[in-house]
Amino acid sequence: MKEFFGKLKNGIKKTGQGVKKVVYVNRSRLEAGQKRADIEEGYYDLGKAAYASYVNGREFKDMEKVMIEHCRKLEDIEKEYRSLTEKIKENSRTKKCRCGATVMSAAKFCPYCGYKFP
Ligand SMILES: [Zn+2]
Repeated sequence: MKEFFGKLKNGIKKTGQGVKKVVYVNRSRLEAGQKRADIEEGYYDLGKAAYASYVNGREFKDMEKVMIEHCRKLEDIEKEYRSLTEKIKENSRTKKCRCGATVMSAAKFCPYCGYKFP
């Protein structure tokens, strides 16, 4: 009986960790979507700045500094975006248990049947 409750407690704990992971992945997906929108906005700002310079002076010689500034900002956001999508991928990996349940690949036990993965 003691063993049963131990397994049950462990199963609940593992399920809790699984839920936390799902919440983390969903939040990260939302954040990644926002970053993607920020990148698109960055492209837009870059083009807008280039066109404004063209309209003002019909040339781009003073644009280099502005362009580099915009591109660096974009580079930073893209780095954050890539790191986020990598983390999402890592935390979304799953495996099948012999009971048929889909569980996180990092799980040592199945939260549904208690099976200990080799
Ligand atoms: Zn199972």
